Amino acid sequence: MMFKTHLVFGLLVGLFMIEYFNISEKVLFVSICVFSAVLADLDHPFSKLGNKVKPLSWLLNLLFGHRGFMHTVWFPFFIYFLFMVFDKTLWAGAFFLGYMSHLIMDMLSTRGVYFFFPLNRTRINGFIKVGGFLEWVVFIAILVGIGFLLFL
Ligand SMILES: [Zn+2]
Repeated sequence: MMFKTHLVFGLLVGLFMIEYFNISEKVLFVSICVFSAVLADLDHPFSKLGNKVKPLSWLLNLLFGHRGFMHTVWFPFFIYFLFMVFDKTLWAGAFFLGYMSHLIMDMLSTRGVYFFFPLNRTRINGFIKVGGFLEWVVFIAILVGIGFLLFL
């Protein structure tokens, strides 16, 4: 999906969480959600984020491929446990949710993701073409959702 779709969906998830759950550091929580929501495409050197840190992005792309390991459930779990080891519960939760929001969005796209790779090699995909009309509909719907959370 497009960078902006991931960005706003991460924002929506973060805002939803601070609205309905008792989260102490709200700004931090939402910031981590948004950041981790766009992080996965770092494995793509020509993505918006990958473009900015090309050497790291090329390395990740070489190691895992685009929509490889960084687009599986294992990566966010790994980071989650890493934060938990250091007793950073808020960081762990926010990162996991934001990151999962990215994977869920990509699952809706025609390219899909290999969510449990290599345990399971099934590709999970939807019918939304990246950058196509339907993605724009989703994008607008997310913006409306953010509007509701912020102003109602
Ligand atoms: Zn992605």
